Amino acid sequence: MNQVMLSEDAQSQIAPWLKPLWNGFDLNAFPSAVLIYGQAGIGKFEFAITLAKALICESTQGKQSKPCNRCDACHWFDSGNHPDFIALVPETHRKFLPHGDFENDVDVSKKSKVSQADSDGEPAEKKEKKIISIEETRSAIEGLSIGSHRGGNRVILVYPLEMLRSDSANTLLKSLEETPSNTIFILLADRLDHVLPTIRSRCRLISAPRPDRTLGLAWLQDQLPRFAGIKVAPAEIESVYDEQGGAPYDVLASLVARHNKDEKDELTISLQASRYLLQSMALGPRINWLEAAEKTSKARYSVLLATMQRWVSDLQSVMQEGMPRYYPKHELTIHGLAQQARLAKLLHFWMMLIQSRRHESHPLATRIQIEALLSQYQQIFED
Ligand SMILES: [Zn+2]
Repeated sequence: MNQVMLSEDAQSQIAPWLKPLWNGFDLNAFPSAVLIYGQAGIGKFEFAITLAKALICESTQGKQSKPCNRCDACHWFDSGNHPDFIALVPETHRKFLPHGDFENDVDVSKKSKVSQADSDGEPAEKKEKKIISIEETRSAIEGLSIGSHRGGNRVILVYPLEMLRSDSANTLLKSLEETPSNTIFILLADRLDHVLPTIRSRCRLISAPRPDRTLGLAWLQDQLPRFAGIKVAPAEIESVYDEQGGAPYDVLASLVARHNKDEKDELTISLQASRYLLQSMALGPRINWLEAAEKTSKARYSVLLATMQRWVSDLQSVMQEGMPRYYPKHELTIHGLAQQARLAKLLHFWMMLIQSRRHESHPLATRIQIEALLSQYQQIFED
């Protein structure tokens, strides 16, 4: 078969656990719309950028490995100037797109300075910036009626798809129904269940896996030396890894943010909050849920919910004679709690968490929600 392989340069940029996905693609017969979904922080975005570049690469070398990183198209892509690559991302994600110095891509130090400068602690304003604007969506979609600039593929990347407002989603849907020729949509979502079914059904669905723990930790050990001056003990890397739910890119970013003492960094806030939340939940019936809610409510609601879910999932599996999957380090504590917990109540709480996750992008008031959930958590240990 005439399958286009992943070039060697690109090999090193793609996380090893996502390579099998790549190998399943045929760049010469690529679907007009793919929806890649999977947990946040596992490298989907970075993967999609390399994929977009490969689809736009104009190399005609016999070896057929893309992206070649040598042709004009690749150079334009790297400098953020390729006219046939359109990224619909919120302001908060723009810094991760290719630009002049993309080679040092995971330059989180620069990233956090930017986020510090533009956040005045105004949550409302910050929230707005996480949304993909309708104007941008419209102008991108309208531009599709003209052919691609270079006569090759044109790629539209949308991430996170959950952050598309419903009017933008409808605009997108219309063009998915009649994809212009040579146009490829790469849509990315952390939560497939938050994506409109009508959009889902127009795309080839691709599930991006999370690495197993050993592979994820090994990848981190490889990556950390790229950041001069960061020294983290392996045990600490493992703790952060478990607290971040096994999402290596988030772990890397939060280790770097912490090294830079960037207290305002969102991942740093989330990490501290998750840690506090875990410590609180480890107290079981003695949890001070008012205090825990107060101390954690600045973190993203979805992060807090995911942490609770992982903890409860571990508790549940220990109660049913299994092993803790997410927090093996806390095995003893979890065993202790499993003795006291009521399974029916635990399962009820689990359903509440699932219910809450459906509305996690639009929480009414994080602190009140967390209070309500944690007081319910305390009930698990009571008759
Ligand atoms: Zn190329």
